[in-house]
Amino acid sequence: MKSLTILGSTGSIGRSTLDVVRLHPEQFEVHALTARRSVDVLLEQCLRFKPRYAVLEDHEAARRLDAELRRHRSPTEVLAGPAALLEVAQAPQVRMVMAAIVGAAGLEPTLAAARAGKRVLLANKESLVVAGELLLQALREGGGELLPIDSEHSAVLQSLPEQRERWASDVRSITLTASGGPFRQRDPAELRDITPDQACAHPNWSMGRKISVDSATMMNKALEVIEAHYLFGMPAAAIEVLIHPQSIVHSMVTYHDGSVVAQLGVPDMRTPIAYGLAWPRRIASGSSWLDLARVGTLQFEAPDERRFPALGLAYAALGMAGGACAVLNAANEVAVQAFLEGALAFTDIHRVNAHTLESLGGERAHDLGALLELDSRARSAAAARARALAR
Ligand code: NAD
Ligand code: MG
Repeated sequence: MKSLTILGSTGSIGRSTLDVVRLHPEQFEVHALTARRSVDVLLEQCLRFKPRYAVLEDHEAARRLDAELRRHRSPTEVLAGPAALLEVAQAPQVRMVMAAIVGAAGLEPTLAAARAGKRVLLANKESLVVAGELLLQALREGGGELLPIDSEHSAVLQSLPEQRERWASDVRSITLTASGGPFRQRDPAELRDITPDQACAHPNWSMGRKISVDSATMMNKALEVIEAHYLFGMPAAAIEVLIHPQSIVHSMVTYHDGSVVAQLGVPDMRTPIAYGLAWPRRIASGSSWLDLARVGTLQFEAPDERRFPALGLAYAALGMAGGACAVLNAANEVAVQAFLEGALAFTDIHRVNAHTLESLGGERAHDLGALLELDSRARSAAAARARALAR
Protein backbone atom coordinates (compact mmCIF):
# COMPACT_ATOMS: atom_id res chain seq x y z
CA MET A 1 0.00 0.00 0.00
CA LYS A 2 1.53 3.33 -1.07
CA SER A 3 0.66 6.40 0.94
CA LEU A 4 0.00 9.60 -0.99
CA THR A 5 -0.24 13.31 -0.22
CA ILE A 6 -2.03 15.47 -2.80
CA LEU A 7 -1.09 19.15 -2.69
CA GLY A 8 -3.96 21.00 -4.40
CA SER A 9 -6.46 18.13 -4.30
CA THR A 10 -9.48 20.30 -5.12
CA GLY A 11 -8.09 21.52 -8.46
CA SER A 12 -8.34 19.96 -11.87
CA ILE A 13 -5.21 17.77 -11.48
CA GLY A 14 -6.00 16.97 -7.83
CA ARG A 15 -9.48 15.70 -8.73
CA SER A 16 -8.15 13.64 -11.64
CA THR A 17 -5.55 12.12 -9.32
CA LEU A 18 -8.26 11.00 -6.90
CA ASP A 19 -10.20 9.56 -9.87
CA VAL A 20 -7.21 7.28 -10.61
CA VAL A 21 -6.57 6.46 -6.94
CA ARG A 22 -10.20 5.41 -6.54
CA LEU A 23 -9.70 2.70 -9.17
CA HIS A 24 -6.91 1.08 -7.10
CA PRO A 25 -7.93 0.98 -3.43
CA GLU A 26 -5.58 -1.97 -2.84
CA GLN A 27 -2.54 0.03 -4.03
CA PHE A 28 -2.93 3.58 -2.75
CA GLU A 29 -4.05 5.21 0.47
CA VAL A 30 -4.39 8.94 0.99
CA HIS A 31 -2.32 10.47 3.78
CA ALA A 32 -3.28 14.12 3.22
CA LEU A 33 -5.41 16.31 0.95
CA THR A 34 -4.77 20.03 0.72
CA ALA A 35 -6.37 23.14 -0.81
CA ARG A 36 -6.33 26.88 -0.46
CA ARG A 37 -9.90 27.53 0.69
CA SER A 38 -12.36 25.18 -1.09
CA VAL A 39 -14.14 23.80 1.97
CA ASP A 40 -17.02 22.04 0.19
CA VAL A 41 -14.94 20.06 -2.29
CA LEU A 42 -12.34 19.16 0.33
CA LEU A 43 -15.08 18.01 2.73
CA GLU A 44 -16.52 15.68 0.11
CA GLN A 45 -13.04 14.33 -0.70
CA CYS A 46 -12.29 13.74 3.00
CA LEU A 47 -15.50 11.81 3.55
CA ARG A 48 -14.77 9.64 0.55
CA PHE A 49 -11.00 9.04 0.88
CA LYS A 50 -10.61 9.33 4.69
CA PRO A 51 -7.16 10.94 4.71
CA ARG A 52 -5.28 11.24 8.00
CA TYR A 53 -5.00 15.04 7.43
CA ALA A 54 -6.80 17.77 5.51
CA VAL A 55 -4.91 21.04 5.14
CA LEU A 56 -6.30 24.43 4.15
CA GLU A 57 -4.10 27.43 3.51
CA ASP A 58 -6.84 29.70 4.86
CA HIS A 59 -7.40 29.49 8.67
CA GLU A 60 -11.05 30.52 8.62
CA ALA A 61 -11.81 27.91 5.94
CA ALA A 62 -9.98 25.34 8.07
CA ARG A 63 -12.24 26.10 11.05
CA ARG A 64 -15.32 25.58 8.88
CA LEU A 65 -14.00 22.31 7.46
CA ASP A 66 -13.17 21.08 10.95
CA ALA A 67 -16.72 21.79 12.18
CA GLU A 68 -18.21 19.95 9.19
CA LEU A 69 -15.93 16.93 9.62
CA ARG A 70 -16.77 16.68 13.36
CA ARG A 71 -20.45 16.79 12.46
CA HIS A 72 -19.87 13.79 10.16
CA ARG A 73 -17.78 12.01 12.85
CA SER A 74 -14.87 11.90 10.42
CA PRO A 75 -11.47 10.79 11.76
CA THR A 76 -9.63 13.28 9.50
CA GLU A 77 -7.64 15.92 11.36
CA VAL A 78 -7.65 19.49 9.98
CA LEU A 79 -4.49 21.60 9.82
CA ALA A 80 -4.01 25.12 8.49
CA GLY A 81 -1.33 27.35 7.00
CA PRO A 82 1.88 26.92 5.00
CA ALA A 83 3.82 25.04 7.73
CA ALA A 84 1.17 22.30 7.69
CA LEU A 85 1.65 21.92 3.93
CA LEU A 86 5.35 21.24 4.49
CA GLU A 87 4.51 18.77 7.24
CA VAL A 88 2.21 16.62 5.10
CA ALA A 89 4.60 16.83 2.12
CA GLN A 90 7.50 15.36 4.11
CA ALA A 91 5.78 13.04 6.62
CA PRO A 92 7.81 9.81 7.02
CA GLN A 93 4.94 7.45 6.13
CA VAL A 94 4.30 9.22 2.79
CA ARG A 95 5.74 7.55 -0.35
CA MET A 96 4.47 9.91 -3.04
CA VAL A 97 3.50 13.56 -3.24
CA MET A 98 1.36 14.90 -6.05
CA ALA A 99 2.44 18.54 -6.49
CA ALA A 100 -0.70 20.07 -8.01
CA ILE A 101 -0.83 23.53 -6.47
CA VAL A 102 -0.89 26.22 -9.15
CA GLY A 103 1.96 28.74 -9.35
CA ALA A 104 5.07 29.48 -7.29
CA ALA A 105 2.94 28.94 -4.15
CA GLY A 106 3.64 25.24 -4.71
CA LEU A 107 7.41 25.59 -4.59
CA GLU A 108 8.18 25.16 -0.90
CA PRO A 109 6.09 22.05 -0.20
CA THR A 110 7.41 20.52 -3.44
CA LEU A 111 10.99 21.20 -2.33
CA ALA A 112 10.19 19.70 1.08
CA ALA A 113 8.88 16.50 -0.54
CA ALA A 114 12.01 16.29 -2.72
CA ARG A 115 14.34 16.76 0.26
CA ALA A 116 12.45 14.09 2.18
CA GLY A 117 13.12 11.54 -0.59
CA LYS A 118 9.56 11.18 -1.86
CA ARG A 119 8.44 10.30 -5.35
CA VAL A 120 7.40 13.77 -6.50
CA LEU A 121 4.65 13.73 -9.13
CA LEU A 122 5.14 17.14 -10.64
CA ALA A 123 2.14 18.88 -12.16
CA ASN A 124 3.20 22.22 -10.66
CA LYS A 125 5.60 23.14 -13.49
CA GLU A 126 6.05 26.64 -12.05
CA SER A 127 8.17 25.26 -9.20
CA LEU A 128 10.66 23.76 -11.65
CA VAL A 129 10.67 26.99 -13.67
CA VAL A 130 11.32 29.11 -10.58
CA ALA A 131 13.89 26.87 -8.91
CA GLY A 132 14.94 24.12 -11.33
CA GLU A 133 18.49 23.72 -10.02
CA LEU A 134 17.38 23.76 -6.37
CA LEU A 135 14.65 21.20 -6.92
CA LEU A 136 17.03 18.83 -8.74
CA GLN A 137 19.60 19.27 -5.97
CA ALA A 138 16.96 18.57 -3.30
CA LEU A 139 16.01 15.36 -5.13
CA ARG A 140 19.65 14.23 -5.37
CA GLU A 141 20.26 14.94 -1.69
CA GLY A 142 17.02 13.39 -0.51
CA GLY A 143 17.21 10.36 -2.80
CA GLY A 144 13.76 11.09 -4.22
CA GLU A 145 12.50 10.78 -7.79
CA LEU A 146 10.74 13.25 -10.05
CA LEU A 147 7.97 12.00 -12.34
CA PRO A 148 6.48 14.62 -14.67
CA ILE A 149 2.69 14.81 -14.80
CA ASP A 150 2.54 17.43 -17.55
CA SER A 151 1.27 15.36 -20.50
CA GLU A 152 4.09 16.47 -22.83
CA HIS A 153 6.85 15.64 -20.36
CA SER A 154 5.25 12.34 -19.43
CA ALA A 155 5.21 11.59 -23.18
CA VAL A 156 8.89 12.50 -23.51
CA LEU A 157 9.80 10.31 -20.53
CA GLN A 158 7.85 7.44 -22.07
CA SER A 159 9.69 7.95 -25.39
CA LEU A 160 13.21 8.22 -23.93
CA PRO A 161 15.52 5.24 -23.32
CA GLU A 162 15.07 3.64 -19.90
CA GLN A 163 18.76 4.10 -19.09
CA ARG A 164 19.26 7.76 -18.27
CA GLU A 165 22.91 7.73 -19.33
CA ARG A 166 21.71 7.24 -22.92
CA TRP A 167 19.63 10.44 -22.89
CA ALA A 168 22.63 12.65 -23.63
CA SER A 169 24.33 10.30 -26.09
CA ASP A 170 21.44 8.96 -28.21
CA VAL A 171 18.93 11.81 -28.41
CA ARG A 172 19.13 14.58 -30.99
CA SER A 173 16.13 16.66 -29.87
CA ILE A 174 12.77 16.59 -28.19
CA THR A 175 9.59 18.06 -29.63
CA LEU A 176 6.84 19.30 -27.34
CA THR A 177 3.47 19.42 -29.02
CA ALA A 178 1.02 22.26 -28.36
CA SER A 179 -2.64 22.44 -29.30
CA GLY A 180 -2.37 26.14 -30.12
CA GLY A 181 -5.23 26.84 -27.69
CA PRO A 182 -8.50 28.55 -28.56
CA PHE A 183 -6.92 31.34 -30.69
CA ARG A 184 -4.76 29.34 -33.08
CA GLN A 185 -6.65 30.68 -36.07
CA ARG A 186 -7.86 34.02 -34.76
CA ASP A 187 -6.60 37.16 -36.47
CA PRO A 188 -3.91 38.48 -34.04
CA ALA A 189 -5.40 41.97 -34.49
CA GLU A 190 -8.59 40.73 -32.76
CA LEU A 191 -6.90 39.25 -29.69
CA ARG A 192 -6.82 42.42 -27.62
CA ASP A 193 -10.47 42.24 -26.58
CA ILE A 194 -10.53 38.56 -25.64
CA THR A 195 -12.40 37.97 -22.35
CA PRO A 196 -11.27 35.61 -19.55
CA ASP A 197 -14.08 33.16 -20.37
CA GLN A 198 -13.05 33.04 -24.04
CA ALA A 199 -9.42 32.47 -23.05
CA CYS A 200 -10.39 29.66 -20.64
CA ALA A 201 -12.48 27.76 -23.23
CA HIS A 202 -9.76 25.33 -24.31
CA PRO A 203 -10.66 23.15 -27.31
CA ASN A 204 -9.18 19.85 -25.96
CA TRP A 205 -8.46 20.04 -22.22
CA SER A 206 -10.50 21.12 -19.21
CA MET A 207 -8.07 22.75 -16.74
CA GLY A 208 -7.72 25.40 -14.02
CA ARG A 209 -8.08 29.03 -15.13
CA LYS A 210 -4.43 30.04 -14.82
CA ILE A 211 -3.08 27.25 -17.04
CA SER A 212 -5.99 27.78 -19.45
CA VAL A 213 -4.93 31.40 -19.99
CA ASP A 214 -1.30 30.23 -20.29
CA SER A 215 -2.40 27.83 -23.02
CA ALA A 216 -4.17 30.60 -24.90
CA THR A 217 -1.05 32.83 -24.86
CA MET A 218 1.28 29.80 -25.28
CA MET A 219 3.11 30.89 -22.12
CA ASN A 220 2.21 27.38 -20.96
CA LYS A 221 4.43 25.97 -23.71
CA ALA A 222 7.13 28.51 -22.82
CA LEU A 223 7.08 27.27 -19.21
CA GLU A 224 7.13 23.70 -20.54
CA VAL A 225 10.27 24.37 -22.61
CA ILE A 226 12.00 25.47 -19.39
CA GLU A 227 10.51 22.49 -17.55
CA ALA A 228 11.89 20.11 -20.22
CA HIS A 229 15.32 21.71 -19.98
CA TYR A 230 15.54 20.82 -16.28
CA LEU A 231 13.75 17.47 -16.39
CA PHE A 232 15.73 15.98 -19.26
CA GLY A 233 18.98 17.96 -19.07
CA MET A 234 18.53 19.18 -22.65
CA PRO A 235 19.96 22.46 -23.93
CA ALA A 236 17.34 24.97 -25.13
CA ALA A 237 18.48 24.46 -28.74
CA ALA A 238 17.46 20.78 -28.59
CA ILE A 239 13.89 21.54 -27.42
CA GLU A 240 11.39 22.27 -30.16
CA VAL A 241 7.69 23.13 -30.18
CA LEU A 242 5.21 21.94 -32.79
CA ILE A 243 1.54 22.89 -33.05
CA HIS A 244 -0.72 19.83 -33.16
CA PRO A 245 -4.37 20.87 -32.82
CA GLN A 246 -5.77 17.38 -32.04
CA SER A 247 -3.63 16.86 -28.87
CA ILE A 248 -3.22 13.13 -29.65
CA VAL A 249 0.57 12.98 -30.09
CA HIS A 250 1.60 14.26 -26.66
CA SER A 251 5.28 14.82 -27.56
CA MET A 252 8.18 13.06 -29.25
CA VAL A 253 11.89 12.29 -29.14
CA THR A 254 14.15 12.38 -32.22
CA TYR A 255 17.17 10.05 -32.11
CA HIS A 256 20.48 10.41 -33.95
CA ASP A 257 19.59 7.57 -36.32
CA GLY A 258 16.54 9.50 -37.62
CA SER A 259 13.93 7.58 -35.60
CA VAL A 260 11.18 9.56 -33.93
CA VAL A 261 9.49 7.94 -30.91
CA ALA A 262 6.25 9.46 -29.67
CA GLN A 263 3.55 8.73 -27.09
CA LEU A 264 -0.09 8.98 -28.18
CA GLY A 265 -3.40 8.88 -26.37
CA VAL A 266 -6.67 10.73 -25.95
CA PRO A 267 -6.22 14.08 -24.17
CA ASP A 268 -6.94 12.98 -20.59
CA MET A 269 -4.68 13.89 -17.68
CA ARG A 270 -5.55 10.63 -15.92
CA THR A 271 -3.13 8.84 -18.29
CA PRO A 272 0.04 10.75 -17.29
CA ILE A 273 -1.16 10.73 -13.66
CA ALA A 274 -1.51 6.92 -13.68
CA TYR A 275 1.91 6.63 -15.34
CA GLY A 276 3.51 8.72 -12.59
CA LEU A 277 1.73 6.84 -9.81
CA ALA A 278 2.63 3.37 -11.07
CA TRP A 279 5.99 3.99 -12.81
CA PRO A 280 7.70 1.85 -14.06
CA ARG A 281 4.53 -0.28 -14.20
CA ARG A 282 1.25 0.54 -15.95
CA ILE A 283 -2.17 0.65 -14.29
CA ALA A 284 -5.69 1.50 -15.48
CA SER A 285 -6.39 5.24 -15.51
CA GLY A 286 -10.08 5.37 -16.42
CA SER A 287 -9.25 7.19 -19.67
CA SER A 288 -11.02 6.14 -22.86
CA TRP A 289 -9.19 4.32 -25.68
CA LEU A 290 -7.65 6.09 -28.63
CA ASP A 291 -9.51 5.33 -31.84
CA LEU A 292 -7.25 6.66 -34.62
CA ALA A 293 -9.64 5.60 -37.39
CA ARG A 294 -12.20 7.90 -35.81
CA VAL A 295 -9.71 10.75 -35.29
CA GLY A 296 -8.77 10.34 -38.97
CA THR A 297 -6.33 13.22 -39.39
CA LEU A 298 -3.42 14.43 -37.32
CA GLN A 299 -2.21 17.92 -38.26
CA PHE A 300 1.06 19.64 -37.45
CA GLU A 301 2.31 23.17 -38.08
CA ALA A 302 5.15 25.42 -36.92
CA PRO A 303 4.16 27.95 -34.24
CA ASP A 304 3.59 31.48 -35.55
CA GLU A 305 5.90 33.81 -33.58
CA ARG A 306 3.72 36.85 -34.26
CA ARG A 307 0.64 35.18 -32.82
CA PHE A 308 2.50 33.50 -29.96
CA PRO A 309 5.36 35.81 -28.90
CA ALA A 310 5.46 34.16 -25.43
CA LEU A 311 7.44 31.20 -26.72
CA GLY A 312 10.45 33.39 -27.52
CA LEU A 313 10.57 34.54 -23.87
CA ALA A 314 11.36 31.00 -22.68
CA TYR A 315 14.39 30.72 -24.93
CA ALA A 316 15.46 34.25 -23.96
CA ALA A 317 15.14 33.42 -20.24
CA LEU A 318 17.12 30.18 -20.61
CA GLY A 319 19.93 32.21 -22.19
CA MET A 320 20.03 34.73 -19.30
CA ALA A 321 21.30 34.68 -15.72
CA GLY A 322 20.16 32.14 -13.09
CA GLY A 323 17.10 34.08 -11.94
CA ALA A 324 15.53 34.91 -15.33
CA CYS A 325 13.11 31.98 -15.42
CA ALA A 326 11.84 32.90 -11.93
CA VAL A 327 11.34 36.50 -13.10
CA LEU A 328 9.41 35.38 -16.17
CA ASN A 329 7.18 33.09 -14.13
CA ALA A 330 6.44 35.73 -11.48
CA ALA A 331 5.58 38.36 -14.10
CA ASN A 332 3.27 35.93 -15.85
CA GLU A 333 1.44 34.96 -12.64
CA VAL A 334 0.76 38.64 -11.94
CA ALA A 335 -0.24 39.43 -15.53
CA VAL A 336 -2.59 36.44 -15.82
CA GLN A 337 -4.24 37.29 -12.50
CA ALA A 338 -4.74 40.91 -13.66
CA PHE A 339 -6.23 39.63 -16.93
CA LEU A 340 -8.57 37.23 -15.09
CA GLU A 341 -9.71 40.15 -12.89
CA GLY A 342 -10.49 42.24 -15.96
CA ALA A 343 -7.69 44.73 -15.22
CA LEU A 344 -5.39 43.90 -18.15
CA ALA A 345 -5.98 43.27 -21.86
CA PHE A 346 -5.16 39.78 -23.16
CA THR A 347 -2.37 40.99 -25.43
CA ASP A 348 -0.85 43.07 -22.62
CA ILE A 349 -0.01 39.88 -20.70
CA HIS A 350 2.92 39.47 -23.07
CA ARG A 351 3.94 43.11 -22.73
CA VAL A 352 4.09 42.81 -18.93
CA ASN A 353 6.11 39.60 -19.20
CA ALA A 354 8.56 40.92 -21.80
CA HIS A 355 9.09 44.19 -19.93
CA THR A 356 9.66 42.50 -16.56
CA LEU A 357 12.07 39.97 -18.06
CA GLU A 358 13.97 42.78 -19.74
CA SER A 359 14.32 44.79 -16.53
CA LEU A 360 15.09 41.98 -14.06
CA GLY A 361 16.22 39.02 -16.21
CA GLY A 362 19.92 39.79 -15.60
CA GLU A 363 19.63 39.17 -11.84
CA ARG A 364 21.27 36.10 -10.36
CA ALA A 365 19.76 34.10 -7.50
CA HIS A 366 21.25 30.84 -6.37
CA ASP A 367 19.56 30.00 -3.09
CA LEU A 368 15.93 29.82 -2.10
CA GLY A 369 15.97 33.10 -0.14
CA ALA A 370 17.41 35.02 -3.10
CA LEU A 371 14.96 33.39 -5.51
CA LEU A 372 11.96 34.24 -3.36
CA GLU A 373 13.19 37.81 -3.04
CA LEU A 374 13.66 38.09 -6.79
CA ASP A 375 10.20 36.55 -7.31
CA SER A 376 8.70 39.22 -5.10
CA ARG A 377 10.59 42.08 -6.85
CA ALA A 378 9.46 40.73 -10.23
CA ARG A 379 5.86 40.65 -8.97
CA SER A 380 6.05 44.30 -7.92
CA ALA A 381 7.62 45.33 -11.24
CA ALA A 382 5.01 43.38 -13.21
CA ALA A 383 2.14 44.82 -11.15
CA ALA A 384 3.42 48.35 -11.78
CA ARG A 385 3.69 47.66 -15.52
CA ALA A 386 0.19 46.15 -15.58
CA ARG A 387 -1.23 49.23 -13.84
CA ALA A 388 0.50 51.51 -16.34
CA LEU A 389 -0.90 49.53 -19.29
CA ALA A 390 -4.40 49.48 -17.81
CA ARG A 391 -4.62 53.25 -18.02
P1 NAD B 1 -6.48 24.49 -10.32
O1 NAD B 1 -6.58 25.97 -10.23
O2 NAD B 1 -7.62 23.72 -10.86
O3 NAD B 1 -6.13 23.89 -8.87
C1 NAD B 1 -5.16 24.47 -8.04
C2 NAD B 1 -5.12 23.79 -6.67
O4 NAD B 1 -4.11 24.43 -5.87
C3 NAD B 1 -6.42 23.90 -5.89
O5 NAD B 1 -6.59 22.74 -5.12
C4 NAD B 1 -6.18 25.11 -4.98
O6 NAD B 1 -6.94 25.06 -3.79
C5 NAD B 1 -4.69 24.97 -4.69
N1 NAD B 1 -4.03 26.26 -4.43
C6 NAD B 1 -4.07 27.35 -5.23
N2 NAD B 1 -3.34 28.34 -4.69
C7 NAD B 1 -2.84 27.88 -3.52
C8 NAD B 1 -2.03 28.43 -2.51
N3 NAD B 1 -1.58 29.70 -2.56
N4 NAD B 1 -1.69 27.65 -1.43
C9 NAD B 1 -2.13 26.39 -1.36
N5 NAD B 1 -2.92 25.81 -2.30
C10 NAD B 1 -3.26 26.54 -3.36
O7 NAD B 1 -5.15 24.20 -11.16
P2 NAD B 1 -4.82 22.92 -12.09
O8 NAD B 1 -5.34 23.14 -13.45
O9 NAD B 1 -5.18 21.66 -11.37
O10 NAD B 1 -3.24 23.04 -12.18
C11 NAD B 1 -2.39 22.69 -11.09
C12 NAD B 1 -0.95 22.65 -11.58
O11 NAD B 1 -0.85 21.60 -12.55
C13 NAD B 1 -0.51 23.93 -12.30
O12 NAD B 1 0.84 24.16 -12.02
C14 NAD B 1 -0.68 23.58 -13.78
O13 NAD B 1 0.23 24.28 -14.61
C15 NAD B 1 -0.33 22.09 -13.77
N6 NAD B 1 -0.93 21.34 -14.88
C16 NAD B 1 -2.28 21.26 -15.01
C17 NAD B 1 -2.85 20.55 -16.05
C18 NAD B 1 -4.35 20.41 -16.17
O14 NAD B 1 -4.81 19.70 -17.06
N7 NAD B 1 -5.15 21.06 -15.33
C19 NAD B 1 -2.03 19.93 -16.99
C20 NAD B 1 -0.64 20.03 -16.85
C21 NAD B 1 -0.10 20.74 -15.77
MG1 MG C 1 1.25 20.39 -20.72
